[in-house]
Amino acid sequence: MGVAFDSISFKASLCDGCGDCMTACSQAKGGASRISIVPGAKAGSFETALCRQCGDPKCVQVCPSGALDKDGGNGIIGWDASKCVDCLLCTAGCAYGGIAVDESVARVGKCDQCDGDPACVKVCPTGALEFRKAGSIFNEYGAKEDLFVPGLSGCQGCNSELIMRHAMRKIGRNSVLATPPGCIPGMGSVGYNGKTGTKVPVFHPLLTNTASMLSGIRRYYDRIGRKDIVVMALAGDGGTADCGFHAVSGAAERGEKVLYVCVDNEGYMNTGMQRSGTTPYGSWTSTTPVGEHMQGKTQDAKNLPLIMTAHKCRYVATASTGYMEDLYEKLDRAIAASFEGFSYLHIYSPCPTGWRIPSSKVIDACRLSVDSNFNPLWEYTNTSGLRFTHSPDNAHPVSAYVKMIGKYRHLSPDQLAHIQAKVDEQVALLKLMAAESPPPPAAHRAPAGSSTPAGAEPSQPARREIARN
Ligand code: SF4
Ligand code: SF4
Repeated sequence: MGVAFDSISFKASLCDGCGDCMTACSQAKGGASRISIVPGAKAGSFETALCRQCGDPKCVQVCPSGALDKDGGNGIIGWDASKCVDCLLCTAGCAYGGIAVDESVARVGKCDQCDGDPACVKVCPTGALEFRKAGSIFNEYGAKEDLFVPGLSGCQGCNSELIMRHAMRKIGRNSVLATPPGCIPGMGSVGYNGKTGTKVPVFHPLLTNTASMLSGIRRYYDRIGRKDIVVMALAGDGGTADCGFHAVSGAAERGEKVLYVCVDNEGYMNTGMQRSGTTPYGSWTSTTPVGEHMQGKTQDAKNLPLIMTAHKCRYVATASTGYMEDLYEKLDRAIAASFEGFSYLHIYSPCPTGWRIPSSKVIDACRLSVDSNFNPLWEYTNTSGLRFTHSPDNAHPVSAYVKMIGKYRHLSPDQLAHIQAKVDEQVALLKLMAAESPPPPAAHRAPAGSSTPAGAEPSQPARREIARN
């Protein structure tokens, strides 16, 4: 398997042109800044010229002396001053203006990402610069075993299959899994003809009793002294928000030490796309049809993760496959918390079949649902309160999201206004909760506008260690 590399990203919308990054770079490198902030096409906008550490670098190709070379270990294109003949061809070869020239000595200056701690990123006051660990999932987990067999019978482009494969690869073999009736067992996780599609112990509770059965399993493992087993559910929204809710609520109230993952595709999709408690207002489903007498669902969705915070769970979070690193980090925290109390992870999961969207648009829908605040990303613990892990400010209008989804195709302007008002109301409530939460330690704080989670209490490996011993 190949390797992916970390990189410095730039969000033009957040840059105010202060130039602090250039000052920091030139101080750190003792010469011209390797990053340039230049005026953008629109008045008051800014762009950056910075080395992208390209996979197929043109600067390396055009260099006649072999002074530039890409390091296969960290992906950084390095510059060897002793080989450079100062022709400056590389600066012409780079389409991104990514190689600076230090005019005082007429030599190139090349970004080396400051050994993984870029000086420019550290000083940027607006979060326009971010050092993204873009390759971490691929590098750390790509080679780990997929704990579901190939050939599960999910619909083409099924986001729930993506969630279960990623979640279980992250969680690993030391787990016992419950998959109550829904799409996940429907696609074969509990098997066909006596053969299971899951490589860890899996059982198929009723739609109503998943959290109760998990409670018993955890107590069994506690009794025999096994502290290393993640006892968890991958359940649909129907089995969580509706007929399974009493069991979920009871287990959360008792503080049962389990991980409950709700895969929310906003309906009972495997049995004919009926509405559930989390189906949003206005949605077409087979039981909330669109016609002369009805224009989709007439009630608002339950905000189930918010309801779970009222149970004072050890951990509650929302996640999306549109923001995979956020999801992976929350899985870490959710697993650790499940050894201390009830841990609830709510993952949004567009259903190409039931939502009437092309399977190629599923991840776009995931991203836009977050970026429009339709499904804001946040996390909560019963000791540190609530915090957003993706900025809810500067959100797209919700119309940008719903217009790509077929189940909202019929919406009237009034219905759309209702949805936008509901989204605004939910975000305002979450912001109030976040405002009342103590700030995370400064060292863990995410930069403004960052989608990178921060603020975990103890380090996660440490917590996992504590939890399992
Ligand atoms: S300036 Fe140096 S690094 Fe750039 S192309 Fe010429 S020899 Fe290569
Ligand atoms: S420090 Fe940040 S905000 Fe200031 S110019 Fe650089 S990228 Fe833009």
